[in-house]
Amino acid sequence: MLLISTRNAAEQKTPLKAVLKGIAPDGGLYVPENFPELSLEAISQLQHKTYQEMAGLILSKYIDMTQEELTELAQRAYESFDDAQVAPLVKLPKGEFILELFHGPTLAFKDMALQVLPRLMSAALQREEPDKKVLILTATSGDTGKAALEGFKDVPNTAIVVFFPDQGVSDMQKLQMVTQRGNNTFVSAVVGNFDDAQTGVKRIFADQQMEKELAQKGYALSSANSINFGRLAPQIVYYIYSYVRLLERGEISLGEKINFVVPTGNFGNILAAYYAKQMGLPVHKLICASNKNNVLTDFFRKGIYNKNREFYKTISPSMDILISSNLERLLFELFDRDDQKVRELMESLMAKGEYAIGEEERAKLEQVFYGEYCNEQETEKAICDTFAQEGYLLDTHTAVAKAVYDKYLADTNDQTKTVIVSTASPYKFAADVLSAVSGEPSQGDAFAMAQKLEQKTGVAIPANILELRDLPVRHDHVEPKEHLADFVRAVLK
Ligand SMILES: *Cc1c(COP(=O)(O)O)cnc(C)c1O
Repeated sequence: MLLISTRNAAEQKTPLKAVLKGIAPDGGLYVPENFPELSLEAISQLQHKTYQEMAGLILSKYIDMTQEELTELAQRAYESFDDAQVAPLVKLPKGEFILELFHGPTLAFKDMALQVLPRLMSAALQREEPDKKVLILTATSGDTGKAALEGFKDVPNTAIVVFFPDQGVSDMQKLQMVTQRGNNTFVSAVVGNFDDAQTGVKRIFADQQMEKELAQKGYALSSANSINFGRLAPQIVYYIYSYVRLLERGEISLGEKINFVVPTGNFGNILAAYYAKQMGLPVHKLICASNKNNVLTDFFRKGIYNKNREFYKTISPSMDILISSNLERLLFELFDRDDQKVRELMESLMAKGEYAIGEEERAKLEQVFYGEYCNEQETEKAICDTFAQEGYLLDTHTAVAKAVYDKYLADTNDQTKTVIVSTASPYKFAADVLSAVSGEPSQGDAFAMAQKLEQKTGVAIPANILELRDLPVRHDHVEPKEHLADFVRAVLK
């Protein structure tokens, strides 16, 4: 298996090399040269295997390591999860299923991939560049930075630097980062907002002097964001896994199609579902759920992607995005792998902030995807109603998926069995979840609110939140936005 660039199919890399590179030299994203096949018989044979065993098998179809190596890697990656099933599938009273992807160390679905990626990078280094180390550099608005820190923590031959905006993350998210453990983790606040942190990081990536200094110390610079193929591949696993679990429980018969509802931002999670479908997983509809930042809903409905619009800060912040980078990989498939066409669309996005696909392509998309969004009130109502009527507590992102699924049902009356992908623990967003279930604004510090939520709902606070209260602060550095490179230099000493 080789990976090719969406903007130039002649640019090819072996998977581990592509994982080290991250993005292709032409700015494109690496995609598999073809989709490995997963027959119904192969799906049937996955029954009663553990998550880690399934991960080993499925990853070995995409990554140039053996199934044994990858199963072992998955075993280590998911060791820190607080549920032995890794991704439990819960059935709600009304019949829909919730796939819980938040049992990792940072309580959000990013752990599913960010516990695997660092281990792939480490293996890639050993094989491809045994004398080199990687320095991961990331600006974060919350979830990604912490998940990357946990993933790279103490991974040999890697170090990670995370910058977060001092005025741009929640109290809990900040606590999670400043108490980060590990001998190769470095965290600094940046005076400013997320854009300031992001711009500072981009400047370091473009700084040739910096590159030289890093090379002298044996480091190559890389990033951990969701366009890296090493983050995409592990996400394919849980779509297949949930199908197999439904099969085992007799909820579906072999070959029966199911729906997935995915709360979407950068389009990485739902793209993995599409990849699973391309491999042969029986999927009817992929329901793309957006919040008020509904650029994707418009795209699926009108065939026009237009980022020139107001940006809203919502209670589902990890979905507050105007450019969904991973959509480029879907366009590549939609246009039958026409790299020239993808290049044109992306150039149009850069130059004008928009692009359009033809009606023929839009209709083709509609056979698989259904795009819908909900507003803030509808999100809160979904949390409140689902708890009152079904006894299940949703976080603010998963609530968007639930609200959108209800709209989908009202619109289509589709009776297909459906899995709602749950991307975060309600305790990661305790203040907003609490005010949604109690109907009044919540007050107090992050821990007080978590406690109130536990009292009100009876859902236990995860241990990873509780321990934050007693962990010492290890990272109290604050850097002016112009000087982020100084922090990196200091770290390397
Ligand atoms: C990142 C994130 C999302 C969005 O996932 P994408 O892959 O970017 O579409 C949704 N919910 C939560 C909690 C997240 O952290």
